[in-house]
Amino acid sequence: MLLEAINVTKTFGALTVVNAVSVSLNKGDILGLIGPNGAGKSTFFNCLTGDLLPTSGQVILNGEDVSVMTPEERAVRGLARSFQVPQTFETMSVLENVMIGAFLRTSDTAKARRRAYEILDLVGLVDVSSAVAGSLGTPGRKRLEIARALATDPDILLLDEAMAGLTATEVRHAIELVRKIHQTGMTLVIVEHIMEVIISLAQQVIVFHQGHQIAHGTPQEVTRDPAVVSAYLGKRAAANAARGFAGDPA
Ligand code: ADP
Ligand code: MG
Repeated sequence: MLLEAINVTKTFGALTVVNAVSVSLNKGDILGLIGPNGAGKSTFFNCLTGDLLPTSGQVILNGEDVSVMTPEERAVRGLARSFQVPQTFETMSVLENVMIGAFLRTSDTAKARRRAYEILDLVGLVDVSSAVAGSLGTPGRKRLEIARALATDPDILLLDEAMAGLTATEVRHAIELVRKIHQTGMTLVIVEHIMEVIISLAQQVIVFHQGHQIAHGTPQEVTRDPAVVSAYLGKRAAANAARGFAGDPA
């Protein structure tokens, strides 16, 4: 088992934002976290990464209890994350941004540069490696964010809304990139509020709604789950139906 969450709970004052969520991932798995805005996805995700400490419950990484470790301590142990809002160093080059990730594993500049170029090649940013990070558009920034995380040579990569703000075409390209990263043997946790993205990528899905895990299973299982249909898919299905009927020439 690569990563395990056991009854992870997070409260802010009287508000329980994540309520006893458990999940386990083996090498090569893709776990999807979905749910509407405010459902608790990022909070649970941050408990896995160490950006937040769970109020109770455990996070086990490669057999070691990392529940109270910092993100840096978890990164050394093989866990990397991207941020929903890209945390790039704006005035540094794309290459330098990725090298920062690579410096987690080596202090040799030539080695870090070599590794950074490999990763830039994988994510499709080699052509802009010398550009200033701040000059990239949204899709480029999202890729750079992923590249920097990958450069730390993680066992598991956690992506928080890596596709938010992208156009439909850009989302398709981003899905291809995640597939490509997965094919390198990577284990992934992906947070998205777009159901279609999760369904096309993940083997197991946790559906959050108002801080509760309302379903957990394969994409097929959760999309058939009545609780999910009414809490999450219901609104969209109803809206689509309404649109469909409105456009129906009958
Ligand atoms: P999601 O990522 O699914 O959109 P979040 O995990 O960001 O949801 O937030 C879940 C809930 O927790 C929201 O109601 C949000 O307002 C609340 N929340 C998140 N962070 C904090 C915090 N630091 N203090 C208080 N409430 C918070
Ligand atoms: Mg979020």
